[in-house]
Amino acid sequence: MSPNEASTSLIMIFGATGDLAKRKLYPSLYHLFRKGKLAKQFAIIGTARSPWTHEQFRENVKDSVLTSIGTNDQIDDFVSHFYYQPHDVTDTNSYIKLRELAAELDSKYSLNGNRIFYLAMAPEFFGTIADHLKADGLTDTLGFKRLVIEKPFGHDLESAESLNAQIRKSFAEEEIYRIDHYLGKAMVQNIEVIRFANAFFEPLWNNRYISNIQITSSEKLGVEERARYYEKSGALRDMVQNHMLQMVALLAMEPPIRLTTDEIRSEKVKVFRALRPIEGEEVDEYFVRGQYGQGTINADEVVSYRDELNVNPQSNTETFVAGKVMIDNFRWAGVPFYIRTGKRMTTKSTKIVIQFKDIPMNLYNRNEQLNPNLLVIHIQPEEGITLHLNAKKSGQNMQTNPVKLNFSNDGTNGINTPEAYEKLLYDCLQGDATNFTHWDEVALSWRFVDKISEVWEHQTQSQFPNYSAGTMGPKEAEQLVQKDGYFWWNITDLDVENC
Ligand code: NAD
Repeated sequence: MSPNEASTSLIMIFGATGDLAKRKLYPSLYHLFRKGKLAKQFAIIGTARSPWTHEQFRENVKDSVLTSIGTNDQIDDFVSHFYYQPHDVTDTNSYIKLRELAAELDSKYSLNGNRIFYLAMAPEFFGTIADHLKADGLTDTLGFKRLVIEKPFGHDLESAESLNAQIRKSFAEEEIYRIDHYLGKAMVQNIEVIRFANAFFEPLWNNRYISNIQITSSEKLGVEERARYYEKSGALRDMVQNHMLQMVALLAMEPPIRLTTDEIRSEKVKVFRALRPIEGEEVDEYFVRGQYGQGTINADEVVSYRDELNVNPQSNTETFVAGKVMIDNFRWAGVPFYIRTGKRMTTKSTKIVIQFKDIPMNLYNRNEQLNPNLLVIHIQPEEGITLHLNAKKSGQNMQTNPVKLNFSNDGTNGINTPEAYEKLLYDCLQGDATNFTHWDEVALSWRFVDKISEVWEHQTQSQFPNYSAGTMGPKEAEQLVQKDGYFWWNITDLDVENC
């Protein structure tokens, strides 16, 4: 086995004909294969309801690789490892057939009984599948067994607890890999390195030097075909409970004593424990929700959320959330972490802006305030870091000018940054759960979010829609930040090409 080659394993994908498998999993596995990061001996079983043959499945995998990557070198060799088994997740006979195929491939490819079960299916099936995997003998194996679970992990704390109790009957916590694909993104993984590998950031990384932190994750797309799920979820559950709070935790955690999964997770958990609970009447003070109305995106007129397919015309589901998150510990007391996320916004972008406190006075022009120093972490679609400083430009008197130092991960250092799913699949094959969410993180983040959704569910929201498609959300989101004396940095101005 070469040093970066992953463990030999059988990967079973439940939901193999679905959108996630086609768009993300097959292209990511192919990338790993081409880079020599999959073990020579591996096999993949796809299962779903469609009565496909192995051959049909392989054609579909080829097609998804070609569509997504545009090349298909060695594709026949790659797809020869793929097998298909029609499956009904509630039917024991299906699992027995699957067990027989798994045993056959285990011996054909010498897989040492190592198994990864990837649940790329609707969440209501997660518990049932985990039960059957154990009851029908698929987890009786001499090698490792790992369960990879897509989001959402529950709908609130109660449902998450009951799902967790159910899957824990078949898998131990260390065998469960809960996907939060943001944790596989190159620049999210870089937050830790930027903080802990640079002498000039860590000493300033606290309430003495940082005035506020802003995390924006905006989408241009509307609800698309996901309305059935989204109507019950909304932006708070879909984005804040997982991706947004995970980014907060990575920005706020203490340096771990070692870079092990347990140490890193334990520092993140401490951040979740320090989140100030926002409940009752405070919710309106700290959080704002929005729903898009009609508007213009890329010069095209688009309909309001309530006019989208499968959306209730009176829907109160939020498509936008802005919030002020406070972390009540020594390092962060008094520093607001502003988060905002939504659909049908001006631009597709995920950025973190760390705003440093103003220096005591402007020596160069006593009548003007200097621009604050900013550290901008570009998560997507651009990947990089920008540092905003004040400097003197040549030829002028002692006049200050804002200058920007840029590092673009898409440039010379970062060609072909792997997709988040590629990294996460590789980590799972290696048995590294660091970039997956531990149950404690899931539980604490639901506890935080549930208090907000409980209040929203009991309020009759009559002002929806309250922002036009193509804008950065409702005016209340601006006010949320302004009342503390700040403003949202315009994320388009912060783009690397505008720097
Ligand atoms: P999908 O609806 O496109 O696919 C569902 C798959 O499940 C299909 O292969 C279908 O045949 C299979 N299936 C459904 N009922 C079945 C049954 N009774 N027995 C056997 N197979 C059955 O869904 P998707 O978009 O691929 O999403 C899968 C999971 O991934 C969900 O949990 C979703 O929240 C999560 N997810 C998806 C994306 C994405 O980009 N699509 C992103 C993040 C998370």
